[in-house]
Amino acid sequence: MEETRAVLEKLIKENSLDFEELLTLITGLDDGVRFRLRAAAGGLRDKIYGRRVFMRGLIEFSNYCRNDCFYCGIRRGNDVVRRYRMTSREILERCGTGYEMGFRSFVLQSGEDLWWNEERAAALVRAVRVRFPDCAITLSMGEKSRAYYQKLYDAGADRYLLRHETADPRHYGMLHPEGMTLENRVRCLMDLRDIGFQVGAGFMVGSPFQTAENLARDLMFLKNLRPHMVGIGPFIPHSRTPFGKMSAGSLEKSADMVAITRLLLPEALLPATTALGTLEARGREAALDAGANVVMPNLSPQENRKDYSLYDNKISTGEEAAESRERLEKRLKAIGYQPEYVRGDHVSYKQRAYSI
Ligand code: SAH
Repeated sequence: MEETRAVLEKLIKENSLDFEELLTLITGLDDGVRFRLRAAAGGLRDKIYGRRVFMRGLIEFSNYCRNDCFYCGIRRGNDVVRRYRMTSREILERCGTGYEMGFRSFVLQSGEDLWWNEERAAALVRAVRVRFPDCAITLSMGEKSRAYYQKLYDAGADRYLLRHETADPRHYGMLHPEGMTLENRVRCLMDLRDIGFQVGAGFMVGSPFQTAENLARDLMFLKNLRPHMVGIGPFIPHSRTPFGKMSAGSLEKSADMVAITRLLLPEALLPATTALGTLEARGREAALDAGANVVMPNLSPQENRKDYSLYDNKISTGEEAAESRERLEKRLKAIGYQPEYVRGDHVSYKQRAYSI
C-alpha cells in the first residue's frame, strides 16, 4: 500500500518507472491510489492538450480478413459473419458525409483484406488526400510490407494504427495462431515510424491468460517505443471465436491503464475506445477522466456496422454514431470537455508537404 503510493508519486514526478515498479503499481491499485492516479493523468492531459477532445470519423471499410486471431469476431474462421468490402467510391462518399458533419480527421480501418493490395490502397489514399487536403488520414489495415506502408505514406496518409496486442511473445502466441508473431508486429511498427507515420500501438486489457506481468511489460514496451497514439480497451468476448466463453476485461483496469499510459507518455493521443463504451455507458467518460483525449465516432455505412463485429454487442448507434454527434458533444461538454473537429495531430508533428 505505502509502496504503491510511493511508486505512483514517482511516476507522477518522473513520468517513468521500471518493470518492477510498474508491477507494484498495477497489483497494488486500490480505490485511493486509483483516484490519485486518474486525477494526475487527467491533469497532465489538461496541461498538454487542454480540455480539447479530438474527434475522428471511423470508417470500417472491409471486414474480410486473412488472419485468425483467437479473440476477434471478423477472424477468417468465422464463417457466419457476412463479409463486406466498401468500394473506393463508397469510402470517399462516407468521408464527404463526415466532412459535412465537420470531421477533419478520418480513420480507415479494415481486416487484413488482400483485395486491398498496395496499388488499390495507395490509389484510395491519394483520392482521399486530393479531395480532402485539409484532413488527417489514419489507416489501420494490419501487417504489411515496408514497401506497402511507404506507398501509403507517399500517397498522403499521416498516421497508422497497429496495436501490438501484447508485448510478451509467449502471451502473443496464446492469442494468435501459429504464423503470427509479435516480432513481425513490432517490425511493422518500426517500419511505420521510420517512414514518418504518426504511429499507434496498444493492447487489450483482460485478454485471456493476461497476467499483471504482461501488463507491466506492455507499459514498458510503450515507454520504449514512444508511439504517438495508444489504443487501450477491454477484451470483450465474441461468441463465434475460440474465446467466446472467456470473461471480458474490466472498465476500471482499462481506465487505469489509460491513466498510467498518459503519465508514461504525456504527449500521446489516447482514444476513449469503442470497446470501453460498449462495456459500460460511462466507459468513454471514465477514459477521458483518466487522461484520454480522442473519440472516434462511427462513420461507417449503417448497413455494414453490425458486420464489423470485433466482439459481441459492439456499439455503433447512439452516441457512438457520427450521426448523433450532437448528443455526444453535449455529453462531453457536460463533463467539461471541448469536442474539436480538427486534424488533431500529436504535439510533435510538423506539417509535411504532400507530394501529390
Ligand atoms: N486488422 C487491423 C484492425 C484490427 S481490429 C489490425 O490488425 O490492426 C482493431 C483492434 O480491435 C485490434 O487491434 C484489437 O486490439 C481489437 N479487438 C479485436 N477483437 C477484440 C475483442 N474481442 N475485444 C476487444 N478488442 C478487440
